[in-house]
Amino acid sequence: MFTLHTDPLHRIAYATDASAYREVPQAVTFPENEQDIVYLIKTACEQKTHLIPRAGGTSIAGQVVGNGIVVDISKHFKKILEINKEERWARVQPGVVLDELNLALEPYGLFFSPETSTSNRCCIGGMFGNNSCGSHSLIYGSTRHHVLEARGVLCDGSIEVFKTYSIRELEERFGNRFWETQSDFLIQNIYTQLIRWSLDEKTVQRIEDNYPDKSLRRRSCGYAIDEVIEDLHNVQKPLEERTINLCKVLAGSEGTLAFITEIKVDLDPLPPKEKMVVCAHCDTLQKSFLGNLVALKFHPTAVELMDRNILELSKQNVEQQKNRFFVLGDPAAILIIELRGETRAEIDAVADQLEKALIENEELLVYACSRVYGSEISKVWSLRKAGLGLLTSMKGDAKPIGVIEDTAVAPEKLPAYMADFAKMLEDLGLSCVYHAHISTGELHLRPIINIKEAEGKRKFREVAYQTALLVKKYKGSLSGEHGDGRLRGEFIQLLYGDEVYGLMQALKRCWDPMRVFNLHKIVDTLPMDSMLRFEVGQQYAIEKELMDGPSTSSGTCHTYYNWKAAFDECKVEGATGARTQLHALMCSIEQCNGAGDCRKSNLIGGTLCPAFKVSGDETKATRARANVLREILTRGWGSEAFTQALNKDKSILKSEEIAEVLDSCLACKGCRSECPSNVDMTRLRSEILQQKYDVNGMPLRSFAVSRMATVEQLGHLVWPIYNLFASWKFSSNIIKRIIKFTTERDIPTLSRVTMRKAVKKECRRHKGQTTKGKVYLFADEFTNYQEAELGLTFAKLLLRLGYEVEIPKHVESGRAAISKGNLKLAKKFALKNVNLLKDKITDQSPLIGIEPSCILSFRDEYPDLVPPKLRSQAQALGRNALLFDEFIMREVAASRISTEDFKTDAVEIWLHGHCHQKALVGTEKTVAALRLLKNAKVNVIPSGCCGMAGSFGYEKEHYKTSLAIGEMVLFPTIRRAMEKTDGVTPCIVSAPGISCRQQILDGTGIHAVHPIEILYRWVK
Ligand SMILES: Cc1cc2nc3c(=O)[nH]c(=O)nc-3n(C[C@H](O)[C@H](O)[C@H](O)COP(=O)(O)OP(=O)(O)OC[C@H]3O[C@@H](n4cnc5c(N)ncnc54)[C@H](O)[C@@H]3O)c2cc1C
Ligand code: SF4
Ligand code: SF4
Repeated sequence: MFTLHTDPLHRIAYATDASAYREVPQAVTFPENEQDIVYLIKTACEQKTHLIPRAGGTSIAGQVVGNGIVVDISKHFKKILEINKEERWARVQPGVVLDELNLALEPYGLFFSPETSTSNRCCIGGMFGNNSCGSHSLIYGSTRHHVLEARGVLCDGSIEVFKTYSIRELEERFGNRFWETQSDFLIQNIYTQLIRWSLDEKTVQRIEDNYPDKSLRRRSCGYAIDEVIEDLHNVQKPLEERTINLCKVLAGSEGTLAFITEIKVDLDPLPPKEKMVVCAHCDTLQKSFLGNLVALKFHPTAVELMDRNILELSKQNVEQQKNRFFVLGDPAAILIIELRGETRAEIDAVADQLEKALIENEELLVYACSRVYGSEISKVWSLRKAGLGLLTSMKGDAKPIGVIEDTAVAPEKLPAYMADFAKMLEDLGLSCVYHAHISTGELHLRPIINIKEAEGKRKFREVAYQTALLVKKYKGSLSGEHGDGRLRGEFIQLLYGDEVYGLMQALKRCWDPMRVFNLHKIVDTLPMDSMLRFEVGQQYAIEKELMDGPSTSSGTCHTYYNWKAAFDECKVEGATGARTQLHALMCSIEQCNGAGDCRKSNLIGGTLCPAFKVSGDETKATRARANVLREILTRGWGSEAFTQALNKDKSILKSEEIAEVLDSCLACKGCRSECPSNVDMTRLRSEILQQKYDVNGMPLRSFAVSRMATVEQLGHLVWPIYNLFASWKFSSNIIKRIIKFTTERDIPTLSRVTMRKAVKKECRRHKGQTTKGKVYLFADEFTNYQEAELGLTFAKLLLRLGYEVEIPKHVESGRAAISKGNLKLAKKFALKNVNLLKDKITDQSPLIGIEPSCILSFRDEYPDLVPPKLRSQAQALGRNALLFDEFIMREVAASRISTEDFKTDAVEIWLHGHCHQKALVGTEKTVAALRLLKNAKVNVIPSGCCGMAGSFGYEKEHYKTSLAIGEMVLFPTIRRAMEKTDGVTPCIVSAPGISCRQQILDGTGIHAVHPIEILYRWVK
């Protein structure tokens, strides 16, 4: 049986979706089967409350935000029930994620074709609820066009199957001409209402006159009464043969009519392999609207738009920087035109014609085109799909806001509509971001507005109203795919007129007389500018606390990181920056727009977010962390989520909810690169933890871990005793219990000689024999004490390759202190290292690191930890602090290292990259360095974080989670690889991270090695 969660953590985590709205629900629940839903509906009716069906929670118009009970079906309704290859359909539960369905369909050569940008986390139930579609709606249409049947529960608790029925079949069930009398059966009344409307000429005419252009491929505004009655008033057919499928109106009904428990969808054959995208570069936006009309003549399968703002924002995103390779010059907009065909030659021929038509056009619509083929195409789409998320990474309070982001008009009307739209924006003094599905006349338009200010809030409403008038003028739809929710409902009456709006209200009353399903969405909505995430003039509760607290200096709130620097350096047009460090910190939290990339499962890949992947629990996703931090640091105990007044005198930093969301974060930095809005939870976590310690004191374990290097330094003086103590079960268990570590893992022992000493001795032996220049090694605290042999191996490798090696004077990196939130300590290490190394480390003599997380601190954290006057020097140092593989590949590029330096013996390598490395620089260079071994077969394990994440996997309460994370992809891949080896070619598991190697050993019993060790074994 399911639980009703009424605790503040759940209520806060579910108070938002990907919209501008926030309303704390009464409770959250995760039903396990259809009977649970029936029970919930009956109970909600009795208690006079309402249910908000929720899937991935990626809606942009506030569809899943409300004060009822949120019913999350994404956890237990995840089964693909049946796939029929011959008849090309699948029957699924509503919580199945679109990409996961398509992965399952791939072996059948089929797929579910409406592909939303959120395909890796949105669910089929949510797509049905919103009538979603995607970039290829030009050829595939929207979800409504693909749902054959659905099963669901009505407000009286009855279970219904919604599919195509003829009037004859309905009469067999309800009686002859049943629509002429009123019934006690809810479902009969539902059919009766629609049949009566369809038989009334005036009503049909009213609908035809007031609904948007029939030619519009995308339409998700209001209830689709016109579509559901289309065949019912087909006068060509005898009445009893006319049909009705209620799925047509359920699609896009946003959970306001029924609770869906199963969906049967039709499938399309996988598209032909041969594809290409032509990226047409325009120097004005208006030219791109006209260019689209030219492109459409060449029968593309998609045409999408990205404007300059999006392209600029993509420069700041680690993941998307790699996907900008096709951009030429500084375009005002790019049209991404996809062509498909049976052969490359066939597509090239069309592309030649297309480019000619665009470039040689009288109006010079396009100044350049780049063509992208094969696997590279996915990078272009990835950049395009990241667009909406990238927008919220704009730094400061003004954001490209979702308010009119989904209008659609017939494509040929787009240039005129856009001209009127630009004029309206000018009158309102607003600028705007334009992108997305131009081929179908739909553009995601996001004016940049600061709704924290009264004037911004006024413009939020005004721009919505003015746009609704324009959309009406062009007979378009206010929403093409995102739905109405609580954002657009207010303008449906204006768009469709009083009578049609009246029909929509009547429809809702007929289906849901008990008012139990998702109230105040589509019809009878609350004012569109109520219940917004941000209130005008709202103060941050945390500000008052920090002013009064120990970290105050001269009347301003002190933060440990320099949060403001990134805001000051942001060059994106319209970015408003931050007033103070605290403001910058809060804006960094507010960058989470709720788009939900952090809800990807392990089937989808990537690192973000291991804590969610392993649990499927929203409260463990990055989004929940950001929501909880934003809510509590802003509203404090005043948040409606806290029902008890008991807390009032307690510091909000002592909130259990903050503690809980930070505790489940592994600090893997997956979000740092994969969250399109650049929400960097690792960094936020450290800052908030240190602020908490200031109020609460630091727990013993955090203190001990952050001081680990000091313990090891002292232990090294008596290393045999230390090692005996650490490896003897009895004594080590005492320590583990004191610091709350699991007794299932071994504490690392110390090397006999430190790396520093061993390397110094080796270098002395080679003095004067090297020719290729000098490099400095960073003897990080882990390698120095625990794996000195590895450090020595690296020095030997570099010496063998002809480099002079020296370990400069430095202190520990502070990695452990950063990850435990001991920022006071980390700042000291950062400052010392920057001062010690800033004048020594140059482009010519870089600092090279072995342990990725340590050396990357120089680049990622140090510039924001040192005093502002040292920032630029710290940045320069960071640029020359290289991972071992970055150095090797730099030298390969300069022809100082080559494959000739290595033996040719065959080897198979299975590489697991460190998560910080993946987040900040990627594993490409490690792979390239290993491929210097001519006969090496390098396989990259598609793992995210290994689950160990520094000390996380050692911690008693996290031990099982840590292993479960390893079990998702990493361990099974290694086991399979080892089973498959031929026993002749060496098969090696390699991981540059020390904790990853320990995790692999604990999880699989296999000793993984650092890539440096492989290179050394193969160097000539
Ligand atoms: C960055 C970004 C990009 C986007 N791009 C696109 C795009 O390209 N195309 C597009 O169409 N949309 C897009 N969207 C909007 C959104 O992602 C889609 O509408 C998506 O299909 C919603 O799915 P979900 O699982 O998140 O549903 P949710 O947001 O959880 O729910 C959507 C609606 O369905 C209802 N619902 C869910 N489950 C049930 C059920 N079992 N029974 C009854 N009602 C139910 C909910 O009440 C709600 O009204 C985008 C959103 C973001 C944030
Ligand atoms: S944390 Fe990032 S990925 Fe997750 S919802 Fe927020 S913005 Fe999206
Ligand atoms: S750092 Fe890792 S665990 Fe923490 S929120 Fe980001 S992705 Fe999730």
